[in-house]
Amino acid sequence: MPVLGRDVTVPLVTAGEVTYAALDYAASAPALQRVWDDVAAYAPYYGSVHRGAGYLSQLSTDLFENSRATVHEFLDCRDGDQVVFTRSTTDSLNLLAGALPAGCEVFVFETEHHAALLPWASARVTYLNAPRTPGEAVRTLESALARRDPYGPALVCVTGASNVTGELWPVRELAAAAHAHGARIVLDAAQLAPHHRVSVRDLDVDWVAFSGHKLYAPFGSGVLAGRADWLQEAEPYLAGGGASRKVSRRTDGGVDVEWHTTAARHEAGSPNVIGAYAIASACRALTEAGFDALVERERHLIAKVRAGLAEVPEVRVLSLFGDDSPRVGVISFVVEGWNSSHFAAALSAEYGIGVRDGLFCAHPLVRTLLGGDPREAGECGAPEDGPGERSEAGVHPAEGRGR
Ligand code: PLP
Repeated sequence: MPVLGRDVTVPLVTAGEVTYAALDYAASAPALQRVWDDVAAYAPYYGSVHRGAGYLSQLSTDLFENSRATVHEFLDCRDGDQVVFTRSTTDSLNLLAGALPAGCEVFVFETEHHAALLPWASARVTYLNAPRTPGEAVRTLESALARRDPYGPALVCVTGASNVTGELWPVRELAAAAHAHGARIVLDAAQLAPHHRVSVRDLDVDWVAFSGHKLYAPFGSGVLAGRADWLQEAEPYLAGGGASRKVSRRTDGGVDVEWHTTAARHEAGSPNVIGAYAIASACRALTEAGFDALVERERHLIAKVRAGLAEVPEVRVLSLFGDDSPRVGVISFVVEGWNSSHFAAALSAEYGIGVRDGLFCAHPLVRTLLGGDPREAGECGAPEDGPGERSEAGVHPAEGRGR
């Protein structure tokens, strides 16, 4: 039975016994077959890294460090930039938050994903109001930076592409504004990196963070790449083996530790070698596919989806910067009269279509887009995110309880 009385044609994915249409890649994209093949080919040979002269240990160390070099190249990092393997974008930004110099101010737009909005609690944070054009974003940042203490350290955190609207942010201009005011900038590339080439040099950002599971690699691995100085002056993200170069007992009974000054400083414990290798494999696959070709194909798909949605009068596509603003293939919409979790449940039940619903871990932004006040808590027509917080998902719309 068609939802809203329309037939839907979407590409299908087979997962075991189930065939379905996954339109929620912005949340997590399935790993590429090529990535699984690379991982499977390596799997019988893995051993501990940086911890032995055995053949498997050496092989794994080589693969791990080569994966780091591949990511360095994929992001077009500067000489001297470090690539730290983390668990995810959230982990990467929290790592950087723990490495801020004393007295650092942080500037972040209220429109950010919570992973970029929330980690800075130990700093002095200025939350910037949602801009309605890319130019306004730059002007808002400039005027906030102009009021800051010009002698203290400062960091700007900004997304490359919104996980809610797909819209591209003016990263190069924001980086120039940050640097003109003596601040640094970290790019949340969780949504940008799978769609566009990210060049640390061209964009002139100080750090980049992204997640493997959005870049067609499996869960559990991410990257923080960029300038070494703040990272190496900070305490290790986790204390433990691998991060420590030398540990000795002091005569007073305590312990002295000399920490590594490489990326290993923030990679304590046995690292996720397979995760790093999978990310490198995905980076190679995307590079070989060619971002120019991917962008062109995506442009076509975005136009097709938007044209289809425009035919449904009840649907409103969400946009901060306006319909013509450049974007990646991430589209969110509201359907008049429907609660989003009920609509998503109906798409799944009726068509086997998987979509992400709720407030997309960007509550202030979604409130703004829905015409509400981002400063207010509470519902705005959609359930909050997170385990146990979804309401009545699975209710059949035909039962009349889905609205
Ligand atoms: N930043 C953006 C723009 C995102 O879309 C996401 C995830 O949806 C994140 C950060 C957090 O990524 P992860 O959950 O992999 O840490």
